[in-house]
Amino acid sequence: MDIDLHTHTTASDGSLSPTELVRLAHEAGVRRLAVTDHDTVAGLEAARATAAEVGIDLVDGVEISCSWERREIHVLGLWIRPRDSALRAALEGQHARREARAERIARRLAGKGMPGALEGARDQAAGAPVTRPHFARWLVARGHAPDVPTAFRRWLGNGKAASVSVAWPAMAEVIDWIRLAGGVAVLAHPLKYRCTATRLRRLVTDFRAAGGTGLEFPASGADPGQVATCVRLAHETGLAASAGSDFHGPRPWQRTPGGVPHPPTAVTPIWSLPAGDSAIAAESRRD
Ligand code: MN
Ligand code: MN
Ligand code: MN
Repeated sequence: MDIDLHTHTTASDGSLSPTELVRLAHEAGVRRLAVTDHDTVAGLEAARATAAEVGIDLVDGVEISCSWERREIHVLGLWIRPRDSALRAALEGQHARREARAERIARRLAGKGMPGALEGARDQAAGAPVTRPHFARWLVARGHAPDVPTAFRRWLGNGKAASVSVAWPAMAEVIDWIRLAGGVAVLAHPLKYRCTATRLRRLVTDFRAAGGTGLEFPASGADPGQVATCVRLAHETGLAASAGSDFHGPRPWQRTPGGVPHPPTAVTPIWSLPAGDSAIAAESRRD
């Protein structure tokens, strides 16, 4: 499909700069692209400049970490106003949480005989907020793990020695940030939270009740049962369908952005909703 509403750049944990990402997406036939870095809008300005050059419709986005029933959930904000001061302040708070987590991860790794992780992860991040994949890449570079997935399995994954949980803000609060910044909220990769069917339904229902607009459908290669689950959840809750690759850079299994299937015709695509609905609703709730 020529739409991709979930991608990352070097502004967070992606491996391509915003300019490189937009050029690659354009070459791959993407006509509308959302850049959705983790808890930052720092890549959007450069992405917008390149998008204007190559003629691609750039959607200002962000992927925000939050919590719901003590799980970490990711919510995409699409069509946000990146300069919105309340949103900027909220994202600053997210950076502080990440920074505190990074320091604790580094202490744990040092305790396991791997000193210097904070500096190492900062080098990997090259100015972007430090995320766990940056630690993973440092562990690989130092020979503590052969590759990133192994680094997570050995050290960084949930329940492992250097796994540190973050007190992320509540999902409903994050949805408010997005709507008050003019955006629409999309529940990212709903099938990746390892929820039971009952809990997943509750998550999606709560997401809708808190003002969420869209449900991200699985990227290419998903089994038909997963797609059917998403269709059912969208119908039950009235959420629209979003589509995005979660591209982090060229990898053996995913070389380009795009390449996501069109959501099934039984659900409303989020890009066909009337623009501004969400923002107007959020403004009226503010009073
Ligand atoms: Mn990521
Ligand atoms: Mn995510
Ligand atoms: Mn993502």
